[in-house]
Amino acid sequence: MKDTKTLYILVPCYNESEVLPLSSKVFRDKLMQLIDDGKVSADSKIAFVDDGSKDNTWSIIESLHELDPIFVGVKLSRNRGHQNALLGGMATIVKDCDMIVTIDADVQDDVNAIDKMVDEYYNGAEVVYGVRDSRETDTFFKRFTAQGFYKLMNAMGVETIYNHADFRLMSSRAVEALLEFKEVNLFLRGMVPLVGFKTAQVTYDRAPRMAGESKYPLKKMLTFAFDGITSFSIKPIRLITSLGAVALILSILFAVYALISHATHHTVPGWTSTVLSVWFFGSLQLIATGVVGEYIGKIYLETKGRPRFFIEKYLNK
Ligand code: UDP
Ligand code: MG
Repeated sequence: MKDTKTLYILVPCYNESEVLPLSSKVFRDKLMQLIDDGKVSADSKIAFVDDGSKDNTWSIIESLHELDPIFVGVKLSRNRGHQNALLGGMATIVKDCDMIVTIDADVQDDVNAIDKMVDEYYNGAEVVYGVRDSRETDTFFKRFTAQGFYKLMNAMGVETIYNHADFRLMSSRAVEALLEFKEVNLFLRGMVPLVGFKTAQVTYDRAPRMAGESKYPLKKMLTFAFDGITSFSIKPIRLITSLGAVALILSILFAVYALISHATHHTVPGWTSTVLSVWFFGSLQLIATGVVGEYIGKIYLETKGRPRFFIEKYLNK
């Protein structure tokens, strides 16, 4: 019989007092079932991270912990956003467990998928991505903006898993690796694939929020997408260089046209030289900006000081 491992279910909470009394029961039932099935060890926990909530989220977490030690709590000193709450929570609990499942407080993600995630963990996967099968329960607006988000990210060269948010299982080794990333602009969906190791995917249907309102209005989502792109990709800089190159080609074509017009006296004096210089120097400036940007992009990536590699195995006997 395989020895069972310790699972911590990590739940970031920001002003979730409406949903916590309901969702804590769902998480507890799930974890108790996993323990009863002998899939995870009896010291497994549900860890709530209070991300500087302004309502009584933290006092709910405190009383849950008092009533039942299966619940544990981590409190951030102030609101630092979903991604920081996740990473801060992981850093705090990683030493106490063998695997962490991160899931939103509103139970939009199907807790039953955790069974399959744990199975994949025992099959050797160190990162198991929860992938949404359908978005039928999302509003048209949410679906449209969210899918546009994934497409834009991919077009900009950020490697992400399509329709995967932050519902995933990670082994403690993968979490330790993730904690080696010292960048402050966090975009976990882009960072986790950089960690590597054996991965797997588990699909599930996404449900509507159990209670309360989304903490991700369009403005936050756009900021998030913009942060994701600018933290991971220097493609926007390359676009400037390409634009300059296109402008240069156009300026050559235009030069031919202008010179012909000039030769056939279809122009007013001074027009040809003015127009040609505007086009030519305009394109040169774009290219020059792009080249400078290329170096800034390099400096930017260097300053992140990202880990260069992780060793998965070392055979030496
Ligand atoms: N959240 C957080 N800090 C924030 C905003 C959100 O910890 O500043 C948490 C929130 O409590 C929830 C998760 O992040 O557990 C996802 O938020 P939400 O469900 O509102 O986003 P949506 O599903 O609408 O994209
Ligand atoms: Mg949600």
